[in-house]
Amino acid sequence: MKPDQLRSALADLDHQGLRRRRRVLDGPQGVRVRVDGRDYLSFSSNDYLGLANHPEIVSAAQLAAARFGVGAGAAHLLTGHHRLHHEVEAELAAFVGLPSALLFSTGYMASLGVIPALLDRHGEVFEDRLNHASLVDAALLSRAKLTRYPHLDLAWLDRRLGESEAQVKLIATDTVFSMDGDLAPIPELLALAEKHDAWLYVDDAHGFGVLEREASGVRRAAEMPHALSASRLTPHPALIYMATLGKAAGVAGAFVVGTEELVEWLVNRARTYIYTTAQPPLLAAAVSASLKLIAGEPWRRQRLTELIARLKAGVVGLPWPLMASDSPIQPLLVGGNEDAVRLAEGLRARGILIPAIRPPTVPQGQARLRISLSAAHDVADLDALLAALRELAS
Ligand SMILES: *Cc1c(COP(=O)(O)O)cnc(C)c1O
Repeated sequence: MKPDQLRSALADLDHQGLRRRRRVLDGPQGVRVRVDGRDYLSFSSNDYLGLANHPEIVSAAQLAAARFGVGAGAAHLLTGHHRLHHEVEAELAAFVGLPSALLFSTGYMASLGVIPALLDRHGEVFEDRLNHASLVDAALLSRAKLTRYPHLDLAWLDRRLGESEAQVKLIATDTVFSMDGDLAPIPELLALAEKHDAWLYVDDAHGFGVLEREASGVRRAAEMPHALSASRLTPHPALIYMATLGKAAGVAGAFVVGTEELVEWLVNRARTYIYTTAQPPLLAAAVSASLKLIAGEPWRRQRLTELIARLKAGVVGLPWPLMASDSPIQPLLVGGNEDAVRLAEGLRARGILIPAIRPPTVPQGQARLRISLSAAHDVADLDALLAALRELAS
């Protein structure tokens, strides 16, 4: 793209109905938001547990700011690694049930740091076709060969792993696919990783805090017996777990957990950990408060389960099907880009905010409304959405 080409390239996006525009949010994130000066009922955030504006998390951040200031002032390997970071890493590791955790500033940076720290151009990364963009970029940055497998096709993956002559192999997958809401079979993927002497990198951005730990398969995978160590009690050394803290946890950042050796290696080799300023310590205090709420208030996950069931029952008879998902990501499959935009605009005119997701984020012909449910929604909110959809269908 040359400087004099931008104007016509943007006009092309307009013509294809693919031009993205930002909306301005006033006030806090939540299920009722003020956007571009108007109030909406929103089904469009990843604040699945309704924690982004929780008073206990806000006050934890405020207290930490009052005691420790705002800026971390330096990278972790200089003087930016605060006791609050150090302590919340231990809490996160314990929460997931693996030995050791490392904080990153965002999930995007975590993946860009970890994968290139383990593989170079002699390696091969295997990725599900529907993986998040950050995982694809991480593989490209590593300069390893990138092989993308058909969505959830483990037989295909098994074959290609067997044929690979790469020195180091890594399988990367979302646990909950971010635009479809379906789940990857983590224990089965870990078994394949072990069979082919590969790493398994699991991106749990949309599962952390939301799925019961058993449901995501991560806990089961971590406890799988494995050949690499005599002790059945040590977690699987090929498993690398990453989750973000800006979605269900309602804060910001991300963390990676694995063996102590892995975390030590990342401290020494993950460039997005080393060459960036540490997150403000007040965010670590906020995460710590959030973890207590996630563990202590299971009603938030139960509410989500109820809302998911009610939505599924309520869309029966509408012209657009829900995609197969048991997560709070419930995409309504519309098809054409313009139809999806028109439906989103119709909802918007009725005071309901749901994003239309179009290519290149999803494949051509699969534009959709990505309905995100939150524990902060109540039944009346969901019924208002269903009534608006029925009106727009007729
Ligand atoms: C949101 C998301 C990320 C990026 O996390 P950030 O902390 O927002 O950078 C990574 N992977 C998946 C699957 C995501 O949905």
